[in-house]
Amino acid sequence: MVDASYNPFGKHYFKSPKVYSSELMRIVILRLGHRIQRDQRITTHVALTARALGAEGMLLDSDDSGIEKSLVEAGARWGGSFYVKRITSWKSEIKKWKEAGGKVIHLTMYGINLPDAIPEINTMALMIVVGAEKVPPEIYGLADWNIGVGNQPHSEVAALAITLDRLQAASGKDALRSQFPGGELEIIPRRSGKEVKGR
Ligand code: SAM
Repeated sequence: MVDASYNPFGKHYFKSPKVYSSELMRIVILRLGHRIQRDQRITTHVALTARALGAEGMLLDSDDSGIEKSLVEAGARWGGSFYVKRITSWKSEIKKWKEAGGKVIHLTMYGINLPDAIPEINTMALMIVVGAEKVPPEIYGLADWNIGVGNQPHSEVAALAITLDRLQAASGKDALRSQFPGGELEIIPRRSGKEVKGR
């Protein structure tokens, strides 16, 4: 999934996130441990949240086609190019990502607290791993950073949203101002009522 032309040793690589342009940052989510019946709703929310806050796509370690279908529908309606790709080997996806120069964050309540980790994150291509009930223990060793969004248990949706917001803020971008070109409809923000226009 990493662009073969991506050069980790490019001129921005060693700069602090505050310095480089976040326009160049790629963020892909890896969803592990999805159970087809039980996790459909929350995995859809992980993907919708990732899309809304500026990630480019989500790799889903499951053969559940329903998530992809929902996100294709969301994209057709509301724009953007977010993708969901079903994968069969999460380890080989991590390996490929790292070989292409990307780095990996694993979100876990046992990790170093996000505000302490942010200054260390100096990469232009991030894979963010979020689990369902349990994650395979190897992920702790494969990740470049095991990060807690606070060190209390909560939700993968909340953990991802806060992480995306803080990462983008550290690189000078507002995750809530992500752009979604194309699509059939656009919301016109209103103090009261709903306004939606066709594009
Ligand atoms: N025991 C798990 C853990 O290691 O964080 C909690 C399981 S929780 C139901 C599912 C997912 O939510 C986890 O795999 C993790 O990605 C995310 N998560 C929950 N709380 C978190 C926190 N405080 N910090 C970071 N991620 C969290």
